Amino acid sequence: MPAQIQPVRGMNDVLPAQIGAWQHLEASARELLTEYGYEEIRVPVVEHTELFKRAIGEFTDVVEKEMYTFTDQGGESLTLRPEATAGIMRAAVSNGMLRGQRHKLWCMGPMFRHERPQKGRYRQFYQLDVEAIGFAGADVDAELIALTARLWHRLGIARVRLQINSLGTPESRGLYREQLTAYLRARESQLDADSRRRLEGNPLRILDSKNPEMQELIRAAPLLTDHLDPESREHFEALCNTLQDIGVPYEVNPRLVRGLDYYSRTVFEWITDALGAQDAVCSGGRYDGLIAQLGGEPTPGVGFAMGVDRAVELLAQAQRIPPGRTPDVYVVVNGTRAAAAGLGLVERLRNELPQRRFELNLGGGNFKTQFRRADRSGAALALIVGDDELARGVVSMKPLRQEAGQSECPIGALAAGVEAALNLRG
Ligand code: ATP
Ligand code: MG
Repeated sequence: MPAQIQPVRGMNDVLPAQIGAWQHLEASARELLTEYGYEEIRVPVVEHTELFKRAIGEFTDVVEKEMYTFTDQGGESLTLRPEATAGIMRAAVSNGMLRGQRHKLWCMGPMFRHERPQKGRYRQFYQLDVEAIGFAGADVDAELIALTARLWHRLGIARVRLQINSLGTPESRGLYREQLTAYLRARESQLDADSRRRLEGNPLRILDSKNPEMQELIRAAPLLTDHLDPESREHFEALCNTLQDIGVPYEVNPRLVRGLDYYSRTVFEWITDALGAQDAVCSGGRYDGLIAQLGGEPTPGVGFAMGVDRAVELLAQAQRIPPGRTPDVYVVVNGTRAAAAGLGLVERLRNELPQRRFELNLGGGNFKTQFRRADRSGAALALIVGDDELARGVVSMKPLRQEAGQSECPIGALAAGVEAALNLRG
């Protein structure tokens, strides 16, 4: 036998046993987003590498080490998307969706990052991405956060907390960055290798370090929130006030910086203590400069990405997945004529009772085997299509979940008979 082909490390199959949780989350999110007036957009999984370099920033982990980049047959450098915001903004520019227009968009799909795979961290993972473009005020930031809070509530996910912060404008951040760099440089010997590397290109990212040995130094570092420009401060206060008004609890985390360079002003993250080291389930913020950076008309934007794999895990832990639906009717066929007629009969029933689920016994099997399958299927009713019965123009019916005898129903009145038998139970 030839050797089996292994799946790619960090890329998972979602099996039928798990799909219920995924579908429930996806359907709930779609419904909620529609209620809030968001529209779906689908963008390619592959973009020019330049897009991500320009949007996410050269000195980020994602661009420096995590991208799946390749040269295609035409010699172009392409990249599997590591996140969706860049592609959606590129689409808004490419399709002339700006010029003072406003859009509320969402997109769901796989993202790719070459990270070290572990629980909750994969190389192909899924995000639900929600973006509002053309809105500058803090009201839309608050509404987006309210939307996420409502989604957790609907899904029955309780072990999540909201953290928020403001990164100010690029100008105010520039001043802060100088101070932070001076502070860190004075303590360079205490920095780990990763942080020393970031000192030049992206010192703010050092605040995001997970290394326990760095925490004391980070705690004592100057705070970005102390250096906000007045407009950003006002924006942040408006956001905090609205969240208070609508009753969404939050914590201000002055060290929340986020891994992508394009953020300005509001950033937020929903974190959980239920997933071990991978604590972020939904991260977002405002990116007022991004569209202009991509060559579009300067247009404000704000959005978030939810890690669907992690959210599904929370959902499974909360045991709030609706059970998968079983067939209503299992059709047993007995005899050669019956086997040939069975499919046609069930197809007619599907026409007449489109809301019912029928499972036809496929691939033969003796009577006992077929009844075992019928029982395991979870169906409430078995239909028995036999040569005998067919000759007499009837089909037998047997309830499977209650003590009740077998009965016969004329083929001409079968749909009504099935419906009546199904409605009879409990
Ligand atoms: P982390 O700190 O966990 O690496 P991040 O800051 O890189 O997250 P974002 O780029 O903001 O994450 O992506 C948004 C969300 O996508 C995260 O909050 C997380 O839930 C999810 N996510 C990010 N990377 C992965 C991954 N490799 N596998 C699974 N989910 C991920
Ligand atoms: Mg990351």
